[in-house]
Amino acid sequence: MEPITYRLNPNGPAASTYYPSIARFTDEVLTQAEGSITPLARTYRRYLAEYELEEPRSHEEYTFELLNLGILWREYGGVALTVEIAPFRSLSYLAEWRKKHQRLKPAIDVVRGLVMTFFLAPANPKRIETPPRDLGDLEGLVRWLDATGDFREDALRFVRWLAFWASLDRERFAESMATVLTFADWFEEVAEERMGIYTPNVTSFVRDHTSSYRWREDRFSCLRSRVEYHLNMVGAEIMNRAFRQEFLAAERKTVLLPGCMRFHTAEACEGRKTKEGIRCSGCQPSCRVNQIRLLGLREHFDVMVIPHSSDLSLWGRRTGEPENGVVGVACLSVLVQGGWELKRHGAAAQCVLLNECGCKKHWHPEGFPTRLDMRELKRIIKPGQPASSQPAGEHPS
Ligand code: SF4
Repeated sequence: MEPITYRLNPNGPAASTYYPSIARFTDEVLTQAEGSITPLARTYRRYLAEYELEEPRSHEEYTFELLNLGILWREYGGVALTVEIAPFRSLSYLAEWRKKHQRLKPAIDVVRGLVMTFFLAPANPKRIETPPRDLGDLEGLVRWLDATGDFREDALRFVRWLAFWASLDRERFAESMATVLTFADWFEEVAEERMGIYTPNVTSFVRDHTSSYRWREDRFSCLRSRVEYHLNMVGAEIMNRAFRQEFLAAERKTVLLPGCMRFHTAEACEGRKTKEGIRCSGCQPSCRVNQIRLLGLREHFDVMVIPHSSDLSLWGRRTGEPENGVVGVACLSVLVQGGWELKRHGAAAQCVLLNECGCKKHWHPEGFPTRLDMRELKRIIKPGQPASSQPAGEHPS
């Protein structure tokens, strides 16, 4: 069967094909960025340290945030600028409530789908070719991203960038926007050459399904463009490198799996429901979740099945408790946001991608049990393994 949008193992196991490729490509992106956006990322890092706005993170993370901004501006800047009136704040609250109140989620999602389509998705959105004219344009984008709920973590990071850009004069602002967008355009072209083999059907999926996702709350997460898939591949890799040591140092390790990996449907799964998620009871030997649970018993990590858009604050650090090291598993369209959210709540996160998407709720009429690459999961969990699939020492610091 053709992949719905992406597949990590079209030409062999992902551990020996996709994961080494994304490690190499991420190195290439970071090297190229040194002559483009990384100097700006370093300036921003110094600004954050000087004004004590956050504990400075690695400059690779800030470089990725700039790349992310460039891509999201190209993809959604035009839409965001056409939306003048919308219940931005209410939509943003609804996105939070659906995480905290799982029972109300179906009802909230119906409301979100209607309101988002009505207010946030104009009929003929156009990709924007011009840079933001001023800070107001960027603020419009950030407000729109936040209201969708799917880009909340991106918006939270961009709010600090807005403060930084507000400190620049007009000329410097325009220069930095031009640099960011030139780099985003370079990325879009080269990523398709390097990683396009893994994302063959994204564009046709978006083209053929835009109308059927109209009025749905998952319209933005399911209709992401091909360049956003490539962006998330690089984002997941950078995140794994940045949070690696912290994760390995964490006393407790938990792997969070999506419900779509189960052999049985949600109704037939015999897992036990708990506050944190569903604990597998091992009802089906060939169920992937069960196999990972058994691996966890041997390798000393816990396994939980959690619904899509769960409240990840449950995995954050609590006073007096050991730090949680969490491996998030999800499909490409939501993985990076989940990792950022875990980090925001104080959990040391690593991520492993589903080999492809296939859940019934979002992607496929019948749905099928999704998979991940077990070799990659073992590598991520084990101490002493490098932060990515290349030999240690090949990454820039
Ligand atoms: S093996 Fe576990 S996760 Fe899989 S269907 Fe049974 S209880 Fe659910």
